Amino acid sequence: MTESTRLAVAFLILVGAGSAAAEDLSLEVSHRARALHPGEVVILEVRVSERGAAPRATAFGKSIRMFPAEDGSLWRGLVGIDLTVEPGKVPVAVQATAADGAEVRKTYELAVLPKQFPTRRLRVAPRYVDPPPDVLARILREAEDVAAIFEVSSAERLWSGGFRTPVPGPPTSSFGRRSVFNGQPRNPHSGTDFRSGAGTPVRAPNAGRVMLTGNQYFSGNVVVLDHGWGLYSYFAHLSTIDVAEGDLVARGEVVGAVGATGRVTGAHLHWTVRLNEARVDPLALLELFPDATPLD
Ligand SMILES: [Zn+2]
Repeated sequence: MTESTRLAVAFLILVGAGSAAAEDLSLEVSHRARALHPGEVVILEVRVSERGAAPRATAFGKSIRMFPAEDGSLWRGLVGIDLTVEPGKVPVAVQATAADGAEVRKTYELAVLPKQFPTRRLRVAPRYVDPPPDVLARILREAEDVAAIFEVSSAERLWSGGFRTPVPGPPTSSFGRRSVFNGQPRNPHSGTDFRSGAGTPVRAPNAGRVMLTGNQYFSGNVVVLDHGWGLYSYFAHLSTIDVAEGDLVARGEVVGAVGATGRVTGAHLHWTVRLNEARVDPLALLELFPDATPLD
């Protein structure tokens, strides 16, 4: 957008809000994303005409934390479109307070398009399709433990800059696939699998705090990282765990190794990303925030 178009847009917003003074605070909202589909990450960008007027935003009933991207006039925040969001217009409420105390509000719309995820059919040990009754309580508890972690949007943003791929192995296009295990439908695949041999080090895609380590029935050995501001990484099927709950890890630090624990057909890395509880494709993060650090 040229500067003159930008000014024209700002003027229209002012007229629309019924304001008279040309120097009033104005908001210009845009977004960047691979696509507006279920499972995508959206970078919301808000340009404010008053430097330092921090905008606030809400989408899907969650507050979207914004951070300054330039000199205090451009702000960014992340919106996650959950795997199961129905296509349609999603309103994003944006507001900011001017230096004189005036509130400016704007509604931006994300037009979410439908996406059909393919089905994958897998064969696993029968105990992972029809678990024996004595492990049902364990499965429920493990699901609740993880859900309770994802519910919290930590106040401190630990992630910054680019996200690096956790293993050198290539990703598979497995995100969102409907999963049929031994002929029986199960939950859609809420992460992306990477082909990597057992023992390959798994590195933190960005800085974070270790929230959970341990062995789970379906996911095998897991590590959950809190990157802050509602963004989490969850690694499953590890052979070893190299961090402890409470540890702070830097981008690139080894958290464990690729394995074949839990409900798997073979060794691989499973990486789930949660953003304000939305299940989003980790590959979207990698594409929107590329990291130039070479893999080793
Ligand atoms: Zn997986």
